Amino acid sequence: MSVETEPAEVPYVDVVVVGAGFAGLRALYTLRECGFTVAVLDESDDIGGVWYWNRYPGARCDVESFDYSYAFSEELEQEWRWSERYATQPEILRYINHVADRFGLRSDIHCSQQVRRAAYDDEAHLWTVQTDTGGHWISRFLILAVGQLSTTKAPDLPGTDDFTGAIYHSARWPQEGVEFAGKRVGVVGTGSSGTQMIPIVAQQAEHLTVFQRTPNYSIPANNAPITDERDEQVKAGYRERRRKALDTPSGLGFTPNKTSALEATPEEREQTFEQAWPTAGFGFVLAFPDLLISQEANDHVSEFVRKKIAEKVRDPVVREKLMPRDHPFGTKRPPVDSGYFETFNRDNVELVDIRKDPIDAITATGILTAGGHHDLDIIVFATGFDAMTGSLLRPEIIGSGERTLVEKWADGPQTYLGLGVHGFPNMFIIAGPQSPSLLSNVLLSIEQHVDWLAALLVHARDHGIEEIEAEAEAERRWVEHVRERAEQTLYPKARSYYMGDDVASKPRVFTPYVGGVRGYRRTLERVVADGYDGFALKERTSGSETSSADAAALAAQGLQTR
Ligand code: NAP
Repeated sequence: MSVETEPAEVPYVDVVVVGAGFAGLRALYTLRECGFTVAVLDESDDIGGVWYWNRYPGARCDVESFDYSYAFSEELEQEWRWSERYATQPEILRYINHVADRFGLRSDIHCSQQVRRAAYDDEAHLWTVQTDTGGHWISRFLILAVGQLSTTKAPDLPGTDDFTGAIYHSARWPQEGVEFAGKRVGVVGTGSSGTQMIPIVAQQAEHLTVFQRTPNYSIPANNAPITDERDEQVKAGYRERRRKALDTPSGLGFTPNKTSALEATPEEREQTFEQAWPTAGFGFVLAFPDLLISQEANDHVSEFVRKKIAEKVRDPVVREKLMPRDHPFGTKRPPVDSGYFETFNRDNVELVDIRKDPIDAITATGILTAGGHHDLDIIVFATGFDAMTGSLLRPEIIGSGERTLVEKWADGPQTYLGLGVHGFPNMFIIAGPQSPSLLSNVLLSIEQHVDWLAALLVHARDHGIEEIEAEAEAERRWVEHVRERAEQTLYPKARSYYMGDDVASKPRVFTPYVGGVRGYRRTLERVVADGYDGFALKERTSGSETSSADAAALAAQGLQTR
């Protein structure tokens, strides 16, 4: 029997969503509910995004479980039982899998499909998306739900390949875990991941050496099991809790104290800090409204946190090494820890200040610093990510007129509302640069973006619109607004991933939007009320008609060869 070779059929969907973490799953659920066909692509071999990868010991969320969870389904909200104030990574991953099963999401999720290339066809107004394993889709819309902290980075140190022990990155943790008992372990990096991991590794390892570049302020988690009484109490008022969160700057439900830290007397200030310290978690940064705006106000809170650190560390030399002095409190993302500073009182823990005693190389048996050699069996890089833009710029994304996103963002991200990019029609970003994103309860921001985008796509469908593009002038004004708002704060004073300092080659620009969840929500509402002001909405013309059915046919005609 002869076999005719037909061109391989390329599936058409209304929307390709890149990423199967919290954002991608929520987009899939909502877009399906709106009647769109969707394909979610993820490079990992299972769903979960960052919560799939960050399995390091002690990994947990530092936003309260009740808030770091989906709000779209009251049934889900009521039936899921969080066990702790701050959920662990395994519990969050179980939740994500529960959501995928409960809402039947898996059938439209394609794992082990790393998007390599996405190109826009200016005539057909369609995206073609290709993956590393030969996967190929055509879609009207492309939604990038790739996360803010997904592309890892590790120091490029000479000798890394010579090390005879094992090297791990906190965000690429092996599924089977790592055995630390009887081992000499080195952890490089003291951000949120290092700070969470270090107390646990110290308990398990024979010896732990912590290589610290920048001392960090950290807020105590005061994690605790959630009692039945607390669970019932929150669930009884969940709607109100969610509504309140949307109406706060952080999306966390904390309303900052109304008065300036500078108007309070020293006693009142101290009392406010003392009250918030054990209870507020991450919300401590909002103990007063001006802590991230006024250097003088920040000096007070920074000194308060240093005092708290000092109370926890016995050895005066180690204590001094741990003192954060080179940036205002909160301008780098402060970790929320459980026993981090106390860990340095242990006999089996050593702290190396690599600003004074820099790492020269990795050797076969450990890490060589200017001050000497540290014998190690295991090295852990808790050195973070190419944050916020890394995962957006990794695939080759080609917009209108063959221009790539890398070219467009050469001087830093340029978006309208953080959602759309001029020159990249029908492409949208969830919780990305220039939106509240990492400066908010990111889960709430994800849901806000998905709902807003879904409404836009429904509007487009109902009005025969086949192309949506951020206008150049609206984008220019938004980029300027994001910059101006950041300059009114202390954030630019720190070297941080907010400022693009995480990767040497990045332009130094402030990346998230500091305007807050509430202000940003109002902006989104105004844009809709003004007929999607700032977006060019191009109606279908008879000559360019490419409905869903036509698009599938176009795919077979060779559009896929782009
Ligand atoms: P991170 O905050 O960027 O911290 C990376 C650490 O590695 C910093 O101490 C950094 O020092 C150090 N480092 C980076 N490059 C280095 C190099 N070449 N040599 C030596 N040290 C180096 O990364 P992360 O701790 O993975 O956390 C990233 C973000 O993920 C957090 O801010 C948070 O938003 C999120 N996260 C959240 C949780 C949670 O919910 N609890 C947990 C983990 C992570 P410098 O400070 O000097 O750059």
